Amino acid sequence: MTIWLATGNTHKRREFEAILKGHKLRLPSEEGIPFEPDETGETFLENALLKARALYRRVLAPVIADDSGLCVDALGGRPGIFSARYGGGEGKNLDSRERNALLLKELGAGSPRSARFVCAMVLFLQEDRFFAVQETLEGEIIRESRGSGGFGYDPIFYLSERGCTVAELGEEEKNRISHRGKAGRFMEGLLRLLE
Ligand code: IMP
Repeated sequence: MTIWLATGNTHKRREFEAILKGHKLRLPSEEGIPFEPDETGETFLENALLKARALYRRVLAPVIADDSGLCVDALGGRPGIFSARYGGGEGKNLDSRERNALLLKELGAGSPRSARFVCAMVLFLQEDRFFAVQETLEGEIIRESRGSGGFGYDPIFYLSERGCTVAELGEEEKNRISHRGKAGRFMEGLLRLLE
C-alpha cells in the first residue's frame, strides 16, 4: 500500500521505513506539498488526528500521522505536546542540544527523574474512518547527555535496565522498544488485517 506520512522529520521517516516494510512511504515535503498544520490539540492524540486528517484531505489516500513527545514527571508532564517547541517562542527556536541543556537545567539535581516518551499514532483511511493507538517508553532523565544516535531528547533519556541512553542504542534496537516503534508495529499488523 502507498501510505503518506504526515511529517517532515527525516529521522521519523527512517524509523517508519524500518517498521512499515513492504509499503511505499510518501512525505508531503518530498512531493512539493506544503504541510505545516497548526498543532492546536491539547493531547498527543488530538494532534495526531488533526495532522492525519489535514494530510488526508490534501492527498485523499491512506495517511499515518504521529504526535510524540517527552513527559517528565517532576515537571508535571512537561514538555509533553510542546516537546518540539520547548524553550522556543517569539521567533526563538532552540536546537536539540540547547533544548536538552535547558531541560537538564530546569530539572536541576532534583528527583524523581522518571519520564516517558509518548507516541500517539493515527492511520487515516477515509473521511470518518481511522484507527488510533498510543504507546510509551519509560525511562529517566540522566544528568549529562550521552550518545550520538537517534534525535531530540534521546541523549538525555536513560534506560536503567540497559545502562545506556536511547542515543546509545542502534537504530534497530531503538525501534524494537520505542514508543513509535511499538505504535508503528501495531499499525503494521492492522494494515495486514485490513488487507
Ligand atoms: P512531533 O514531530 O510534533 O511529534 O514532535 C515530537 C518532538 O518530541 C520531537 O521534536 C522531539 O523533540 C521529541 N521526541 C519525540 N519522539 C522522540 C524520540 O524518539 N526521541 C527523542 N525525542 C523525541
